Amino acid sequence: MHHSRKPTFFAISFVVIVMNGLLFLAVAGPTRTGAQAATGTAQAETWTYEGATGPQHWGDLDPKFAVCSKGRAQSPIDIAAPQGVNLTDLTFNYSPTALNVINTGETIRINYDAGSSIVYNEITYNLVQFHFHHPSEHTINGKAFDLELHLVHQDSAGNLAVVGVLITKGKADNPAYASIFDNLPAQAGTKAVPTKLNVDDLLPKDRRYYTYLGSLTTPPCTQGVRWLLLTTPIELSQKQIDTFSTIFHLNARPVQPLNNRDVLQDTTSGK
Ligand SMILES: [Zn+2]
Repeated sequence: MHHSRKPTFFAISFVVIVMNGLLFLAVAGPTRTGAQAATGTAQAETWTYEGATGPQHWGDLDPKFAVCSKGRAQSPIDIAAPQGVNLTDLTFNYSPTALNVINTGETIRINYDAGSSIVYNEITYNLVQFHFHHPSEHTINGKAFDLELHLVHQDSAGNLAVVGVLITKGKADNPAYASIFDNLPAQAGTKAVPTKLNVDDLLPKDRRYYTYLGSLTTPPCTQGVRWLLLTTPIELSQKQIDTFSTIFHLNARPVQPLNNRDVLQDTTSGK
């Protein structure tokens, strides 16, 4: 009797180990939700902006990235002939957040405290995080800007809406950006800045926008993203731009084919 307990013990241990394995797979495994993609869970990236794992090859690097090459509604795009219309108001309800400046290895990202949102077409999208690209990803009539700010939002069903802000060179430092750009971690890691930041202060006063349906601009290049690109750029000093570009000399995906998508431009006056 004594000896018969041993195999039973091992059998139970084996079952426990297998179950833990399955549980691990269920938690960490195959699906990455929109929220995780939007927040960018900490994991080694397999893609880059240049070379053999650069944007031309993203679709081949992982079956989950296939839409990067096969998708017909990818971002960014060149905005060349937008259709002018009176668009619905885009409402911003932003509150301050704690400021933790993260160098992810691919960009500078700030995860946003809960409680800030936009309303677009009567749908509320909560602000999840914002981050930067150098040079800009979207271009206007073929012209790239120095930087582009992306504010990533998600509605209760998991749909994403990204507000884009084009950034160009101005004469003076932009004080609204100082708390971020004076604290960019040169290496991967996080710098906690002992101040609050309201992302509303980073946007231009004029909130008119271009809009189209596109994708995430990084793998897995998920489509169905509502893009809201503000038409008015904001200015940073050359010094501020250089602070970013010395860390990330290129972290922008090239423009993608429009494929007959509608691109609308808000021509409402006085916003
Ligand atoms: Zn982005």
